[in-house]
Amino acid sequence: MIAARRSLATHANPTIPAEQPTRHSWSKDEIQTIYDTPLLDLVFRAASVHRVHHDPSRIQLCTLMNIKTGGCSEDCSYCSQSSRYSTPTKASRLVDIEPVLEAARKAKENGSTRFCMGAAWRDLAGRKRGFEKILTMVREVRGMGMEVCTTLGMLSPEQARQLKNAGLTAYNHNLDTSREYYPQVITTRSYDERLDTITAVREAGISVCSGGILGLGEQDKDRVGLIWEVANMPEHPESFPVNALVPIEGTPLEENEPVPYHTLIRTIATARVVLPTTIIRLAAGRQTLSETEQAMCFMAGANAVFTGEQMLTTPCSPWDEDKAMMGRWGLEGMRSFEQSSVARKEGRLLAREEQQEKVAEVI
Ligand code: SF4
Repeated sequence: MIAARRSLATHANPTIPAEQPTRHSWSKDEIQTIYDTPLLDLVFRAASVHRVHHDPSRIQLCTLMNIKTGGCSEDCSYCSQSSRYSTPTKASRLVDIEPVLEAARKAKENGSTRFCMGAAWRDLAGRKRGFEKILTMVREVRGMGMEVCTTLGMLSPEQARQLKNAGLTAYNHNLDTSREYYPQVITTRSYDERLDTITAVREAGISVCSGGILGLGEQDKDRVGLIWEVANMPEHPESFPVNALVPIEGTPLEENEPVPYHTLIRTIATARVVLPTTIIRLAAGRQTLSETEQAMCFMAGANAVFTGEQMLTTPCSPWDEDKAMMGRWGLEGMRSFEQSSVARKEGRLLAREEQQEKVAEVI
């Protein structure tokens, strides 16, 4: 029984190297074995990997804005924006450009270096004028020197190219859970359709942000299955958001139990070991964690948070609270384009890194 093999004791295995190269050929059993490691050993190993690939004192602050709320035709069973459920979220039109730019300026002033805009719809079909407006938003926010991310549902390769040309840094498209459990959560689009969008984004030269939600009713094997899916992509996602379900009244998952904290941290630590260069993004549900629990997540490899006034539909920790927390734990905000895979995609690879890569090739 798996539970019997797990313990909170630590007896770190010194034979497991932290400096493993980035791999794209993981088996589910290998990832499950990491996931089942006694928790403190797992956190120790994740923290060791984290220190090889990242500056552990740096946390990326990003701010999310819902630019088109509710009225979505999809049936994601966790989401208050689906028109199929009776929830407190009301449908709105795509917001104007200026309020978005104002929100981005405020986010930047408060230390956020990535600004993410989300629209509640299946895809961009029939939204030519809306898409043009979004391309302008992307151009303008990018012009402020911020990393820009959007989450706009399914994309065609051409739409991905247009977003890239407008200056988009990253595109968020979560896989949510394992391929096996996915049909229990969403029926209006397939796992393969999600993967097609991710491929279009990657091939357009945009960084991929793709992670999941814990607390959907999934099991350990589904959390492992999600990590396995992204670990075997031709490029690991630049960003892997880990959300803890915030149950919303009126959705099919309104009665779900909160995900246990040890499951959250186990997932973060496993993702850190398997995806060593990826930014692990502590996303929805962070507000339910104490400061110490959040610090433990940072120790286990999480290195980005959403901060500001609101997530898409759930509460978010405000900037001043986050800055105070980071100060207490000796953490600092990451600069824009600091992460090497983003810098590389943006043609900003540092001379030092280019030199290191040349040396590695020679060796
Ligand atoms: S998660 Fe996105 S696609 Fe799914 S219902 Fe909500 S807004 Fe629509």
